[in-house]
Amino acid sequence: MRKNIVAGNWKMNKNLQEGVTFAKELEAALAGKTLKCDVIIGTPFIHLASVASSTKLGVAAQNCADKASGAYTGEVSAAMVASTGAKYVILGHSERRTYYGETDAILKEKTLLALANGLSPIFCIGETKEEREKNVHFDVVKKQTVDALFGLSAEDFSKIVIAYEPVWAIGTGLTATSAQAQEMHAFIRKTIADKYGKEVADNTSILYGGSANGGNAKELFGCPDIDGGLIGGASLDVEKFIPVIEGF
Ligand code: PEP
Repeated sequence: MRKNIVAGNWKMNKNLQEGVTFAKELEAALAGKTLKCDVIIGTPFIHLASVASSTKLGVAAQNCADKASGAYTGEVSAAMVASTGAKYVILGHSERRTYYGETDAILKEKTLLALANGLSPIFCIGETKEEREKNVHFDVVKKQTVDALFGLSAEDFSKIVIAYEPVWAIGTGLTATSAQAQEMHAFIRKTIADKYGKEVADNTSILYGGSANGGNAKELFGCPDIDGGLIGGASLDVEKFIPVIEGF
């Protein structure tokens, strides 16, 4: 059975002390609640070890290098991320694709290195506003998935979490309607089933991301193919994040 997951993505927010305090506060606030999902926080690299050692919450990096090791100044390898105790890495976020030129070929390398080091990628795909207006959104999402991920064995693919994040909804306050999100999630699951079979597809967690919050999480998470969320803005504040987690 696939897991329900709510994962926060802090992006480039919070210093180390603020991050550790947040993680402890969130864990304390969730203690005693019956959770129907796994909770992950995606922190900047420098927070990973401290957050992973001070809470039992899942911890994700927001990126890793496309090289294993060596003379790549400023980069952080998948092995280094794994050595912090983090179990996940967010890959292919649209901000990485847009601002740092990450292509499907680069993301394929990052995914292989993440998996080789025991990390589960939370792999982001999604179309821009222009692509949706041109009605090519299904083609775009399929190509991103095929080009970066469909070289994987079924065993490796089963360690991937997909995050469908329409670029036009990220940080904009615009959310895909639950019908739009469900339609795309069902399409992604069918695309996976066509390649890896129904069992792998049914076991793949597909998260929605794009201005999800406490007000819309319940409706989104109630859709049959939406298995949780990747949450930016609403994950920066414990009081705002908890209602998203409680959307399940
Ligand atoms: C994200 O950064 O992955 C995201 C979905 O951001 P927001 O929730 O702020 O739209």
